Amino acid sequence: MSKIIILGCGSSVGTPRIDGHWGNCKRNKKNLRTRCSALIVKGSNSILIDSSPDIRNQLLSNKVKNISSVLLTHKHADQTNGLFELRPFYWKSKNKINVYSDQVTIKYLKRTHGYLFKKTEDYSPILKANLIKKKFSLGKGNEKIKFNTLMVKHGRIKSTVYIFNKVAYISDCKDYSIVKQKMLKNLNCLILDCLRFDNHPTHFNFEEALYISKVLKPKKTILTNLHSDLDYNFLLRKLPKNVLPAYDGLKINL
Ligand SMILES: [Zn+2]
Repeated sequence: MSKIIILGCGSSVGTPRIDGHWGNCKRNKKNLRTRCSALIVKGSNSILIDSSPDIRNQLLSNKVKNISSVLLTHKHADQTNGLFELRPFYWKSKNKINVYSDQVTIKYLKRTHGYLFKKTEDYSPILKANLIKKKFSLGKGNEKIKFNTLMVKHGRIKSTVYIFNKVAYISDCKDYSIVKQKMLKNLNCLILDCLRFDNHPTHFNFEEALYISKVLKPKKTILTNLHSDLDYNFLLRKLPKNVLPAYDGLKINL
């Protein structure tokens, strides 16, 4: 059985924020949101999507013992600042961890996080950068997972959408053209950016996320990248039955 775990579904600051600000969110577990990351698991094939600044606690609380590869959606700090934390997986396997992303992200990370890719002073590099293709697969035998990718607008940069087992992961996006993408039709599950109620230049807001979901018609939509003005229970009451807010630790069978 394969599944995807939403390790974190918060906005770039998480809820509560570092200074204890909860916004409109009630102080309950479903509103405790760390920064966006997800994990696809099929047997021993354990594929991380993004490595948030909270990745250490996310993997600890989900008892994740290995990471086979890492897919990055884009270069932003809330997706990549946890890469350094992955060192123990390199120490255990003695192999560099394969990281997959688009050219812009790889170039940026090699400049800003050079030590992760090239030997510096006393420390070995832990990551190997790989350019993503439109179609590729990860894992062996019956643990293999096939991916399709799409590049979508996320403000002035692009973000990669990963589509696998009739699931699409779109955590950071403001691109209405996705409604025309055949690959995003007839999905079992659409995991979709929904930052807040107000408009935002680089993310779908509540109304836009609902519109995208209505047009693409997946069986189920899970809203992620939720900012602190979106309380979990308030969303549950407001959303149609097939649209659900994510929460940290949510598991979806594939
Ligand atoms: Zn971003």
